[in-house]
Amino acid sequence: MHSNTSDPEINALQILHTVYGYDAFRNQQGDIVNHVINGGDALVLMPTGGGKSLCFQVPALVRSGTAIVISPLIALMQDQVMALRQNGIKAAFLNSSQSSLDVNDVETALMNNELDLLYLAPERLMMPRMLDLLNRAPLALFAIDEAHCVSQWGHDFRPEYIKLSILHEKFPTIPRIALTATADGPTQREIIERLSLHNARIFNDGFDRPNIRYRISENQGNAREQLRRFILNEHEGEAGIVYCLSRKRVDEIAQWLSAKGFTALPYHAGLSTEIRQHHQARFLRDEGVIIVATIAFGMGIDKPDVRFVAHLNLPKSIEAYYQETGRAGRDGLAADAWMAYGLQDVITLRQMQGNSGAEESRKRLEQHKLDAMLGLCELTTCRRQALLRYFGDKLDHPCGNCDNCLSPPETWDATLAAQKALSCVYRTGQRFGVNYLVDVLLGKDLERITQFGHDKISTFGIGTELNNTEWRTLYRQIIARGLLRVDLEGHGSVQLTDSARPILKGDEQLTLRKMVKPTKNPNRKSRS
Ligand code: ADP
Ligand code: ZN
Repeated sequence: MHSNTSDPEINALQILHTVYGYDAFRNQQGDIVNHVINGGDALVLMPTGGGKSLCFQVPALVRSGTAIVISPLIALMQDQVMALRQNGIKAAFLNSSQSSLDVNDVETALMNNELDLLYLAPERLMMPRMLDLLNRAPLALFAIDEAHCVSQWGHDFRPEYIKLSILHEKFPTIPRIALTATADGPTQREIIERLSLHNARIFNDGFDRPNIRYRISENQGNAREQLRRFILNEHEGEAGIVYCLSRKRVDEIAQWLSAKGFTALPYHAGLSTEIRQHHQARFLRDEGVIIVATIAFGMGIDKPDVRFVAHLNLPKSIEAYYQETGRAGRDGLAADAWMAYGLQDVITLRQMQGNSGAEESRKRLEQHKLDAMLGLCELTTCRRQALLRYFGDKLDHPCGNCDNCLSPPETWDATLAAQKALSCVYRTGQRFGVNYLVDVLLGKDLERITQFGHDKISTFGIGTELNNTEWRTLYRQIIARGLLRVDLEGHGSVQLTDSARPILKGDEQLTLRKMVKPTKNPNRKSRS
């Protein structure tokens, strides 16, 4: 171990200087490190590139015993361990690709207290033999990386992560630190619940990535040409990632970009491991390589100078969007998150979700996540504010570094329509979802509506100036604005938030992005 004085704080700083060569801890790193060194549990929410690794590596070096790092990214363990060893840290990993001889060496080193850090996949940790070894080995702490993988509703769910509650049961005295860069409120609660982190201190560094400029536009039927111009005009010769929904589209776009003179390489699960590794290696090593990929690419890729992430399709949730765009600009320098989406994407994604064979409740949740994503696209106000609000963060002023801040889009006065939409929520008791509310606004002759007596309320049938799709768009937009909250545990019913009041009372105007199709006059007087 590196420790030789008794003051852990001094030790932590010394290690930061001598082992890593850094001057100071960033943001909350110092507090987190001290908390864990002193034996506390922690949940760390920090954006990509924020410096999560040091939060467990420094305590691993200060505390006696080995730190066990649980990570879902088996493929990257080797790289991470190599990088640590280059800094003189005694790190090792165990996974299924090793020979029994190698495994033996690592296990012996663990038992002899010769390791600072040991990386394990969760399924490895759960093996009885491994648990038995850990019981007898001197342990410094457990670090659970990518902790959002424990969330059953998340897009990176790993069933093995759920079993990690065993750590609390079997090793109650060993501190645990869980880390993630993507967790909205419900996911944070799920992490705490499933990992039994009720006593953990939560360190929330915020999710903002101020150097990333968010830009979202509708696909005008020539998305790849839009993409070509974007890269040529703003990022020629720079590294970037282009995300597409299907493998076929990945191949097509990679070929097309190559034909246009860019160095563009495809990456998806349909390619052989060799080709994938080769393309990934070139992306990491060479200058100005563009990777065209499905979402199979990127988790754990540590390339600091990715200058742009482009989406040629709509991601299926804001979490996915945030995580994928978060791979841009990890070095803190200016970077672009660019997207061209089409309404066809929404249809395709809905079909994929509809046919997934998942439980109804899950499908509903996915539907809401997709709607929230679409709401972000249709927004006319600051995208960063909406993005951060989604994750429970607050940004007081518009950011000045997203497309809507830089060149405000065409809008219409949606105050009256929004009043109708909001008052319909209120008059039906804040217990219904958007589909039902739209039926009421349109005055549909449905048994369900008469059953509840909602054909008698003042908002029944007052919304015929917009059609079904337009009302749904409007609801999506006002949800994205935070005027309504979706209760995901309550079957997707929507409820008014405090921000809805001034609109309902007519104290505030609401302007929204022009809908694609021109509508009849939406400003007909409301009866409510
Ligand atoms: P994350 O895992 O949160 O995405 P990393 O731990 O990989 O982020 O850190 C991102 C980058 O920032 C790395 O290159 C890391 O070496 C650097 N870094 C982290 N903490 C500090 C610090 N206190 N001072 C300087 N550089 C730091
Ligand atoms: Zn903005």
